[in-house]
Parts: sequence; C-alpha cells; structure tokens
Amino acid sequence: IAYKMGDEPIMATNDDASECKRGAVQLGYWSDEYISYFVKSVERRAPEINRGYYARVKGIENFIQKFINKAGSSAQIINLGAGFDTLYWKLKDEGVQISNYVEIDFPSVTARKCYMIKRSKHLLESIHDQDGEVKLSSTDLHAGNYHCIGADLRNIAQLEEKLRQAEVDFTRPSLFITECVLVYIENECVNRLMSWISSKFKSGFFINYEMCNINDTFGDVMLGNLKARGCSLPGISQCKNLDTQKARFLSNGWLGASAWDMVQVYYAISPSERQRIEHIEFLDEQELLIQLFQHYCICIGWLSTEFSEFTCTAI
Ligand code: SAM
Repeated sequence: IAYKMGDEPIMATNDDASECKRGAVQLGYWSDEYISYFVKSVERRAPEINRGYYARVKGIENFIQKFINKAGSSAQIINLGAGFDTLYWKLKDEGVQISNYVEIDFPSVTARKCYMIKRSKHLLESIHDQDGEVKLSSTDLHAGNYHCIGADLRNIAQLEEKLRQAEVDFTRPSLFITECVLVYIENECVNRLMSWISSKFKSGFFINYEMCNINDTFGDVMLGNLKARGCSLPGISQCKNLDTQKARFLSNGWLGASAWDMVQVYYAISPSERQRIEHIEFLDEQELLIQLFQHYCICIGWLSTEFSEFTCTAI
C-alpha cells in the first residue's frame, strides 16, 4: 500500500478514540469487556468528552440495531476505518446472527489489531468458525464470519479485491459504518467510494458519524486541535451542516438520507438512561456539552426503501 504524507497522524486518531472509549467504559458509561484488550493506557478525559462518546456509541448502536432487526441473519456489516472497534464481539455476546462482519483500516492499524486478536484467547474464541480455522497474514485476518483487512479506502480497486477475499456478497443487505473517518479523506475519494457502494450493492444502509456545523468559533477551535496534531482534514467542507452531510449521499446514487445533530440524538436517549449516566460525573453547567453536541452528527443513507424509515427516537 502506498501511504501518503499525513496518513500517520490520521492513523493515530484511532489510538485517541480507543483510549477515550476505554476511559468512558471504565467509568461505567456503557459496558464493553473487549476494549481493554486493544487499549492499555487510559487518560482521564473531561466529563463532556465522556458524555460525547457515550452519545456517539448509543446513537450509532441505535441504527445498527434497527438495521439488523430489519435485514435479519443474511445481514453483512462493513466497518470502514474501523480502528479498534469491538462491535463484532459485543454482537456475538448478544447472540446476534449476521452472515458476515468486515473491518477495514490502513494496514498499519489492522496489523496491530490482528496481532492483538491473535494474542488473546478470549478474542479468538468468538471468531473461530466451526472447524476453528483462522487465516492470518501480518495485516489481514479471516476467520468464520469475521474479517479484518488492511486497505486504503481511497483505492476502490484494492478495496473491492479485499472485500471479495472477505467473502462479501454484493447481493445481501449490507450496513456500512464510518465513525469519524470521512473527514480525513478527499471529497473526490469519498464520492467515488459512496458511488461505488451504491452501484455495487443491491441493498444497503450507511451510518456516518462525524463533525457538522463547523463554521463558527467553536468549530474553529475543534479543527485547530486536530490540525495541531498534524491531521489534514480534506473532507471538512462536507461537514458544513446537516444538508451537506445528506447531499453527499444523494449526489452519489443513494435513494435517501437523513441527519441529526448530537443534541437531537442525546435527547432521544431514554430519560432513565440519561439520568444514569448524568450521575456518573457531575457537570456544573451544560453549555460546553451542548456546544460539543451541536458540532457532531449522525447521517444515514439508504439504497432501498426498506431502510428508509429509521429514525432517531426512543434510543
Ligand atoms: N472508527 C473508529 C472509531 O470510531 O473508534 C476509529 C476512528 S479514527 C478517528 C479514524 C480511523 O479511520 C483510523 O483508524 C484511520 O486509520 C482510518 N482511516 C482514515 N482514512 C483511511 C483510509 N483512507 N483508508 C483506511 N482507513 C482510514
């Protein structure tokens, strides 16, 4: 794979996200017994950050659940820029049946993930197929219905080849997840990716979580922080508002799209659940939290009408 200048700090954003998730899990925001296999260190983050991650995880899970309920056991999940995501293991524990689960990230990231999976009996146990065969290279792992593969999302030919190796069936209902990924990729590459998916897959649903409403002072600070860490953000123009987020789907062959900022997502979470997590860490005032929520969103897109009525209520 040909890495480009500036890819290194983008891969490092996965360490940050994973550390934040582990920190929030440790405090009891949500449970995830697998994240600690992938992240050893935890730095204590501000309560606003922890609540932000909580809303992000809950909000995305809401749509994953809806998709699986509708698509049934032939469903495939394809997590693009998956980092050290643990969803596969959590779904397995919940007894959720799907036909295929594929994670894609830069090979340097998947190599680390594959190594950690290989080292852990607990992680390996869930991914073995019936005869226990695991095919492993330094960057890719294929086992049962779990595949972790190294590829560059900017390279469609490579991605397609890797998805074939992961036994992806283009006729099955497929869920694509991008969680804080697209902003790091040039618009023309994201457009190519989204058009390719819409033309290749018969039935699909897409969940994208990332920044929005960035054209204000708070947005400037957020972007400044990312840039200070060396991350270029070539996809930032698509994060202007909810409409630009939706437009990306509509102009690339998707049937429809909807988007919610994280204020809406947070207040769609059941009051009792919200009360529970609001007791974990006390916030003097809500202003910073609300500002943070206003600057992130969940945008969904669908390729067929069966996935068109999913909303962000009663999480
Ligand atoms: N989705 C994970 C999460 O939310 O915990 C990780 C998010 S991290 C902020 C962004 C991830 O996208 C990194 O793991 C990075 O390597 C991956 N990524 C960014 N651009 C990519 C590309 N062109 N090809 C493959 N992976 C990419």
